[in-house]
Amino acid sequence: MPTRTPLIAGNWKMYKTVTEAVATATELVGRVADADDVEIMVAPSFTALAAVASALAGSRIALGGQNLHWESEGAFTGEVSAPMLVSAGCSHVIIGHSERRQYFGETDETVNRRIRAALDAGLVPVFCVGETEAQRESGETFSVLDKQVQMGLEGFSLNELTGLVIAYEPVWAIGTGKTANREQAQEVHRFIRELIEESFSIDLANAVRILYGGSVKPDNAADLMAMDDIDGALVGGASLKAETFSQIVNFKRSL
Ligand code: PEP
Repeated sequence: MPTRTPLIAGNWKMYKTVTEAVATATELVGRVADADDVEIMVAPSFTALAAVASALAGSRIALGGQNLHWESEGAFTGEVSAPMLVSAGCSHVIIGHSERRQYFGETDETVNRRIRAALDAGLVPVFCVGETEAQRESGETFSVLDKQVQMGLEGFSLNELTGLVIAYEPVWAIGTGKTANREQAQEVHRFIRELIEESFSIDLANAVRILYGGSVKPDNAADLMAMDDIDGALVGGASLKAETFSQIVNFKRSL
């Protein structure tokens, strides 16, 4: 059984001023100091990145962007590029979150371009996929995921994808309090891993971390993470407070 270090990532979405983000990050550093068996990442809004980078300096917590543009610079008002994220202290970037797909016109093609930009800049992409409630109810879950994964990763070589992180986030479970039960999540995570094996290699399939996202909380984290193919979590709401996020980070201690 391959061992994959769990990654617990916090998506702070459009919450927190710079002052609030620094306060949460500073509190988190203290609360997760002993969690040396997991990797941790937080993704504040762009405005708070540089200040949070300073607050996290020397800690075990990595910094991520919530999105990026595929060009490295240019006349793209309101956009932020991969080199800009790197210069602000990021090592990771969330790409293709369902809120971006739903509200900002993100498509599988633009997700693919953003993953390319992230990899070229040395950022770890946290590539989000997931079906809507209607798609699940009409039995399309696996075909939707197949398309999202195949198109998102189209054109990449095996070597480029070492270190890739995928986040399976059923859209119906994000911010709704509904969580996929662990068997539902495991089934999809296994399916995604098999897709990676078919399209790339068994070694990449064994190495790729597949996070679950969708109303992960301190009281369901250990249960989800106990499944073979669930390698961590992408956490929205429960990552906004250092106390609840650190309880998720420390999920092994509650097993
Ligand atoms: C997310 O934003 O990626 C997410 C999973 O949110 P929540 O944990 O609030 O459902």
